[in-house]
Amino acid sequence: AEELEISNKVAGLGLHKKPIESTDDDTADAANPAEASLLMKIIRQGLVESKLDIEIQRKDPNSPLYSVKTFEALHLKPNLLKGVYDMGFNAPSKIQETALPTLLADPPQNMIAQSQSGTGKTAAFVLAMLSRVDPSKNYPQVLCLSPTYELAIQTGEVAARMAKFCPEIKLKYAVRGEELPKGTKITDHILIGTPGKMLDWGVKFVMFDLTKIKVFVLDEADIMIDRQGHQDQCVKIHKRLPTTCQMMFFSATYTSAVMEFAEIIVPNPIIIRLLREEESLDNIKQYYVKCKSHEDKYRAICNIYGVITIGQAIIFCHTRKTASWLSEKMSRDGHSVAVLSGELTVEQRIAVLDRFRGGLEKVLITTNVLSRGIDIEQVTLVVNFDMPMDLDRKADCESYLHRIGRTGRFGKAGIAINLIDSQQAMEICLEIEAHFGKKIKLLDIEDAEEIE
Ligand code: ADP
Repeated sequence: AEELEISNKVAGLGLHKKPIESTDDDTADAANPAEASLLMKIIRQGLVESKLDIEIQRKDPNSPLYSVKTFEALHLKPNLLKGVYDMGFNAPSKIQETALPTLLADPPQNMIAQSQSGTGKTAAFVLAMLSRVDPSKNYPQVLCLSPTYELAIQTGEVAARMAKFCPEIKLKYAVRGEELPKGTKITDHILIGTPGKMLDWGVKFVMFDLTKIKVFVLDEADIMIDRQGHQDQCVKIHKRLPTTCQMMFFSATYTSAVMEFAEIIVPNPIIIRLLREEESLDNIKQYYVKCKSHEDKYRAICNIYGVITIGQAIIFCHTRKTASWLSEKMSRDGHSVAVLSGELTVEQRIAVLDRFRGGLEKVLITTNVLSRGIDIEQVTLVVNFDMPMDLDRKADCESYLHRIGRTGRFGKAGIAINLIDSQQAMEICLEIEAHFGKKIKLLDIEDAEEIE
């Protein structure tokens, strides 16, 4: 079968070729939400499951709400169903069970859906977008807004795969680098892009008619509102849409800022939420080791390695400089180590994580670019070479939990070791201990047998 034609010439994945963050080795790497989201999407190997129940709020009690356990029950166009199965999806994910019947309902219903990344939101709205298109009408009918170029491309690629057997559906990217001659009338059915470009094409140059849009999707709303001006652009586009247009609003988080934005965009919504399974420290043995210097911390790591068998380990450092210093030392001593820090391009980060996942390296040294959730089961040891702290150099308990904690699914036992080389680090350690009410024991590194 033919692939869905993508009429823009966006090269390859369109990922960053250049590093995005500062090149200063001495400053701490910070996680950039748009980038973290992209990385998670790319390295993800399947659905994130949750044992928690879905929470539904309905504004319109007359609209029946039901859920489906199979894709057949949705009565999709046969070629679309074929595309879904071709992607390896057997049954709807938890959020899809509830979201899809509503997204596909007639008359259309508006939806706000929130669940953590990896739970199947993108697949759900892409399926809804594709099934709402009338390919016999050659003008844009569906708009999908993403916060960045790369995220738009990712969504487009999901659409292209799902529409593999529907070559009549045309998709275009409205992103930077895509230039259309003045006076162009866009004939593609689906436009996926960033708010600025969409506003240019729709409002400034009138290359398509916003009043003919049937479906408006706003993806990664929480990242969208983080970006200067994006929210206003979304609202400007939204204002020109017909009142009959179906609004779909997706977010990984549910803050009041996100919900205020949602209220503007989505009248009379059905709101569904899938709560995140909380990470916990329950199965984790936590220790601290007193050290005098960086060298001393390094020796502590070697000692730990000497006495316990470790599946894989992740070591967190505060700066790139420390990370590269440590990795050189460990490599010299014959350890196979990988480094993940902010100077890498997205492609390089993916390569590093892929190798680590595959077990090619036993140790991953990283800065805060990886503050949250790479669920790698084989990781049994997490070392805080530097304690997590916020900009005021106070304990960053949330990052600590993300680094060390496990969710129910990866509830296996683990070991966390904090290397403490200053009074300040000790204070942070004590603060974290008090915050979680879980003992962090002193480990005598000369006598490390006790941790096994
Ligand atoms: P989100 O948008 O919430 O981050 P995605 O839609 O990107 O989630 O889905 C996460 C991962 O799970 C992707 O790799 C996707 O291909 C896969 N996936 C989505 N829905 C299903 C399903 N019903 N069955 C199996 N895998 C799925």
